[in-house]
Amino acid sequence: MHADTYRHRGQRRTLVEELRRKGIRHERVLAAVLAVPRHAFFEAGFEAHAYQDKAFPIGEGQTISQPYTVAYQTALLDPSPEHRVLEIGTGSGYQCCVLLELTPHVFSIEYQPVLFERTGRRLAHLHRQAHLFCGDGSVGLPQHAPFDRILVTAGAPTLPRPLLRQLRVGGCLVIPVGDAQVQRMVRVTRVSEEEFTREEFEEFRFVPLLGQAGWAS
Ligand code: SAM
Repeated sequence: MHADTYRHRGQRRTLVEELRRKGIRHERVLAAVLAVPRHAFFEAGFEAHAYQDKAFPIGEGQTISQPYTVAYQTALLDPSPEHRVLEIGTGSGYQCCVLLELTPHVFSIEYQPVLFERTGRRLAHLHRQAHLFCGDGSVGLPQHAPFDRILVTAGAPTLPRPLLRQLRVGGCLVIPVGDAQVQRMVRVTRVSEEEFTREEFEEFRFVPLLGQAGWAS
């Protein structure tokens, strides 16, 4: 099941061209999108949606993010092979696998136990190895900090302080911040122990980041 055929690879090439037309220029990120079989993250019968540039439901009221959003966030994050990366919101595991194309040191945490279990099985089946956790990622993973890169794939009401504290100096956090309807993509870089710089980018619509430093569930 979920064999990666010549047809799928052709669909991914077309998707990558679409992302390029939409402004994604980060070649290593585009190569990662080309490498990851997105159809393997869809339930049986829904694979035909995998190479459209659209978000799609994955159960538990959650979504696999739109490829453009995944590529946009990953390009802002700009991970290198030596970086330790923390992803908040494992969901289907697709973004996690895109990150694994860029560094072998990926930690990912998911709030919903059903998704955590299902995605753990999926990544094992795909022979992709990340450090997966189930719990409230809004407070990060203090026992594995510091991280060079932290990526939040759900919309936060404010910048979660625990995540800022878990950044290595020189590292950055990419996170959508806003209200329940619309969020602005923000990148925060830790320039010294005490100093952070903040940059703002496009607006997106994400499912909410729940938990202690997110929205109340
Ligand atoms: N990155 C995912 C993918 O590639 O499929 C898409 C993520 S989906 C847009 C957002 C995910 O964040 C959902 O799976 C949701 O359950 C999870 N989430 C929300 N709040 C969370 C929290 N506090 N800690 C960890 N995961 C959280």
